[in-house]
Amino acid sequence: MEKTKLTGRIVTPKDSDYEQARTNLNLSIPKFPKVIVFCQNVEDIVNALKWARENRVPFRLRSGRHSFENFSLLNRGLVIDVSEMNQIICNRQSLTAKIEAGAGLGKVYQELWEYGVTIPAGTSINTGIVGLTLGGGIGLLTRLYGLTCDNLLEIEMVKASSNRGAEVIKANKYENSDLFWASRGGGGGNFGIVTSLTFRVHPISDVSIFSITWEWEDFEEVFNVWQNWAPFTNKRLTSTIELRAKEVNRIEVLGEFVGPATKLKQLIQPLLEAGSPIDQRVKEVPYIDTVKFFDSPSGDRPTHFKRSGSFIEKPLSREAILKMKQFLSNAPNENAAIWHQSLGGAVSRFDPKDTAYYYREAIIGQEYISSWNTEREERKNVEWIERLRRALSKDTMGDYVNWPDIYIKDWPTTYYGENVSRLRKVKTAYDPYNVFTFPQSIPPYNKRIF
Ligand SMILES: Cc1cc2nc3c(=O)[nH]c(=O)nc-3n(C[C@H](O)[C@H](O)[C@H](O)COP(=O)(O)OP(=O)(O)OC[C@H]3O[C@@H](n4cnc5c(N)ncnc54)[C@H](O)[C@@H]3O)c2cc1C
Repeated sequence: MEKTKLTGRIVTPKDSDYEQARTNLNLSIPKFPKVIVFCQNVEDIVNALKWARENRVPFRLRSGRHSFENFSLLNRGLVIDVSEMNQIICNRQSLTAKIEAGAGLGKVYQELWEYGVTIPAGTSINTGIVGLTLGGGIGLLTRLYGLTCDNLLEIEMVKASSNRGAEVIKANKYENSDLFWASRGGGGGNFGIVTSLTFRVHPISDVSIFSITWEWEDFEEVFNVWQNWAPFTNKRLTSTIELRAKEVNRIEVLGEFVGPATKLKQLIQPLLEAGSPIDQRVKEVPYIDTVKFFDSPSGDRPTHFKRSGSFIEKPLSREAILKMKQFLSNAPNENAAIWHQSLGGAVSRFDPKDTAYYYREAIIGQEYISSWNTEREERKNVEWIERLRRALSKDTMGDYVNWPDIYIKDWPTTYYGENVSRLRKVKTAYDPYNVFTFPQSIPPYNKRIF
C-alpha cells in the first residue's frame, strides 16, 4: 500500500517561521512539535491523520491557539492546524452559516455582519470558533440566544477509521446524533478533527452597551448587587463584572442589551444605585462596534498566564465575597482578577442532559485570571490561582471545559457532571482506540480514566 504524504503548508524546526508557527497564546507551557501542518482543505486533514497513524506519530489539533493548557500543542509530534481553513458561507434566507473550523471570532462577526446577522459567541476576537463551540461558547448575547453550541446545526468531522484510515462524517440532529450531542459541550480534540460547523444565525442591527466603574471600597456592595441582578434581569441583557487586584482600585461592569439605550438605562438602575460609581456610559451602536468594545487586545497577545474557573449556582454568601476580596488584596500582581459573566436566560432553556454542556442551571461563570512576564514569577501566580479556586470551591460548582485546569484532579466530573458516562460511550463508539488523546481527553471505556 502506498504511504500517505503530508499535504498543506508544512513547517518544521528548520524553517524561519517555526517560532511563530509553534507559539500559542500561553507562553508558560512551551512545546516544540516536530512538524506543524497548516491544512488548506479537508483532504490535507485526512492526509495528516493518516500520516500520523501510519507513522505512529502522536498529534494534536489546533485552530485559534487559545487553549489555557496548550492542549493543542505537543513536543516532538505533529500539530494538525486548521486555522488557514476559514471560509464562511452565509445564507441570509435560511438564516444559516457554514463556517470552516479555522475561522477566528473576529472574522466570523465581521463577515456575518455583512449579512446583518450574527451568532452568540465569545469576546476575544482571535479565539477559534471550533474550540469555543465544542466546549459551549459564552459571550455577550448568551442570555438571549444561548451558548454558541446551542446554535449549532451540524458539524463535519474527520474521524479515525479502521486500518489506520480517516473518514469524513457529518453529525447533526438526525445523522450521528450521539456525536452531535457530544460536540455541544464535550470540548475540543476528543472525537475527531472538525472541518466545518453550520450554525443558525440571528438578524441583528443596533444594540446598546454600557460600562460602569467603581473603586475598591465598593467591592462587596457592587458585587452583591450585580450577582442578584445580572442573571435575573431582562434576558436581552448579558453582562460581566471584573474584580481586579486591590492595587488597581477598579471594579468594572460591562454589558450588552439587544434593545434601545433608553430601556437599558432603566434596566441598569439597580447597579447605578450601588456604591459610588466613578464612571458610567450607555451607548446605542451598530452591533459590529460591540466586537471591538468587548475585545481585550491584551488578552489576545501571547503571554505567560494561568487561568481556571467554576460556575456559581446561587448568589455567593457574604463570606465568599469577602474571600474574593481577601485574595485580591493579596494578589501576585496587578494583572490578577476574578471575572464573571451572567448566565441563565436562554442557557437554562435546555436540560443539563440535553447536550454535553452540563451546567445549565448555573447563574454565573466565574473565571480566575493571572498573568506575568518572567519565569521567576510563575510559581507565585499559579499557586495563587490554585489557592483561590480551592478556597471558593465550597461556594461554586464544576468548571467550564473551555477553561481547563490541569490541577483539577477530578476533571471528568468537574467539566461534565453526570454527562461523563454518555461522553465515554460516544468516545468508545467514534474513537475506540483513543487515537485522539491529550491530558484530560475523554477516555473510551477500555481505558482507565486517570
Ligand atoms: C484570552 C481568552 C479569551 C477567551 N474568551 C472566551 C469567551 O469569551 N467565551 C468562551 O466561551 N471562551 C473563551 N475562551 C476560552 C476558549 O473558548 C477556549 O480556550 C477554546 O478552547 C479555544 O479554542 P481555540 O480554537 O482558540 O484554541 P486551540 O488551542 O486551537 O484549541 C482548543 C481545543 O480545541 C481542540 N481543537 C482545535 N481545533 C480543532 C478541530 N478542528 N477539531 C476538533 N478539536 C479541535 C484543540 O485540540 C484543543 O483541545 C477564551 C480563552 C482565552 C485564552
